[in-house]
Amino acid sequence: MQFKDIVGQRDVINRLTEIIDSGRVSHAQLLLGDERDGSLALAWAYMQYLCCSNRVHHAEGDLRADSCGECPECKKIAQLMHPDLHLIFPNATTDRVKSNPSCAEFQQEFRDFLLSQQGLGSLDAWYAHLGIDNKQAMIRELDAAHIVQTLGMKSYEGGWRMLLVWRPSKMNNAAANELLKTLEEPLPRTLILMVDEDTEDMLPTIISRVQIVRLKAESTDRRRENAALFAPLLVEWLRMLFKLRMKDLSAQVEKLAALGREQQKQFLGYALEVMQECFMQSAAGQRCNLGSGDEKFDAMFPNMITVNNIELINDALNEALFAVGRNAYGKIVFMELSFRISKALKKR
Ligand SMILES: [Zn+2]
Repeated sequence: MQFKDIVGQRDVINRLTEIIDSGRVSHAQLLLGDERDGSLALAWAYMQYLCCSNRVHHAEGDLRADSCGECPECKKIAQLMHPDLHLIFPNATTDRVKSNPSCAEFQQEFRDFLLSQQGLGSLDAWYAHLGIDNKQAMIRELDAAHIVQTLGMKSYEGGWRMLLVWRPSKMNNAAANELLKTLEEPLPRTLILMVDEDTEDMLPTIISRVQIVRLKAESTDRRRENAALFAPLLVEWLRMLFKLRMKDLSAQVEKLAALGREQQKQFLGYALEVMQECFMQSAAGQRCNLGSGDEKFDAMFPNMITVNNIELINDALNEALFAVGRNAYGKIVFMELSFRISKALKKR
């Protein structure tokens, strides 16, 4: 997971990479934000940047730094297979694990879940993935014991040890008190990264010992404004990309290229968000409304965005965004982008 794959949050990301670069990483952090704003994906990209042996810095563009995505550390974190990365999350008994459930039992399921949802999965989607729709999943004593045991061991690779705690608000009191002890005695080169939506159900003693990083609520006001402005244009373009007739394509590209540069950027940013939402609908069944005014299209299109093409689509849109930012010729940018997305849609 790289920062470039995350929609928005540029100010937050730039601040985080600056802190990592300066070597002032605090040992316990809590990322707070709506799950639709990508808090889990951000945590993932954060750990990848922390471990990357070849961090990339950009002189231009709105993202100042990112992990390289190529070095062995990046690849291990991207696959969630880094031996010093430990995952803690709410869990419960399932058909397979009938008693004493703990994170240790569900590591593979959770990795599969994160990979298939690209870090955008909701709590409900996780429960559905485990097949425990209505049960109360929690983080319990057994999980806390796992944390203590893990942190008692040496780092495998000699670098950072990372504990990702998703939804610490689901900890029961015993688990929370155990975690508190580890927060009170920070260990060298050990990061406890927590991700949640709010602090309501968390112990004040825990909150007081972590550095809080708040994500921007991107998915509300600005989204509404952009939707009014760009939804008709986006839907028209996506419809055309399905069939891809050359005559229609050049007319469509003319229209997009005629937007001013700033509007082109906003349009591409909006398209990225809509694609993420479509992906969340197809992967996790979370309803997304394209707002095209055509119910059939709104219901059908999100199913075209799957784990097989979301990355291709994200890359194509991000590269177009970058090209527009560098004053590339609009018609060429949107023509190339149209071909790439049309091709990606066929890979679903
Ligand atoms: Zn790297």
